[in-house]
Amino acid sequence: MIRSSLASLARLVFPEVCPLCQSLREESPEEGFCPSCADSLPLVRPPLCVRCGLPFPAGEGENHLCGECLLSPPPFSWARALGRYETGLLDGIHRFKYRRAIRIGEGLGRLMAEIPMEGGPVLSSFDRVLPVPLHPARLRERGFNQSAVLAGAVSRRITIPLDLFSLRKIRDTKPQTSLNGAERERNVRGAFSVARPSAVEGEKILLVDDVYTTGNTLREAARALLRGGASEVAVLTAARAVPRFLGG
Ligand SMILES: [Zn+2]
Ligand SMILES: [Zn+2]
Repeated sequence: MIRSSLASLARLVFPEVCPLCQSLREESPEEGFCPSCADSLPLVRPPLCVRCGLPFPAGEGENHLCGECLLSPPPFSWARALGRYETGLLDGIHRFKYRRAIRIGEGLGRLMAEIPMEGGPVLSSFDRVLPVPLHPARLRERGFNQSAVLAGAVSRRITIPLDLFSLRKIRDTKPQTSLNGAERERNVRGAFSVARPSAVEGEKILLVDDVYTTGNTLREAARALLRGGASEVAVLTAARAVPRFLGG
């Protein structure tokens, strides 16, 4: 009783603001975004690739494997994203990443922990949550690792330990957006290493990143973890870039 009246007093003095649209809101901060922002997120919905999570155009029937996963299966067992990298989610990630709107990242991380898996993989069966690391030079420049904020929120929500130290970025790569397909693969080759093999050996690892673009970075990070002895690596991202010919 006292606590709840203190909470409402606190809301009068420091009103809760939706981190995405900045509108005042009434529900508790745990809820994340205001209802209208939560409703307008471009969520990834089935049908999708059971392996890499690529969404197919609506009406393509059941979930199945995409062409890329058939031709060259990724090292991770599956990847899923909260939403498509467009509209409100793209804006939100940009504000989070480039303007340090940390609360947006925390809200997205909480929602990522609740992505419906529809009888598929169970997040709580994983042993630890690892963010895709930034190179130390990049970390100094940005001031924080956006993937670590997301991974922290996921780990708190599913109550699985967060591990910020076992995977390291040992090579400062060029931004993937400036490169074509083959260059992207070369650019990230050997970019990651496992700093503490004893921490990943035999572990089921949930690897967290902000955006799944071509998957080259995530494939390379997963490869490093599996070489380091992890028994399984799966991927969770806030957004998934969907090639234009598949959009709709
Ligand atoms: Zn909002
Ligand atoms: Zn796929």
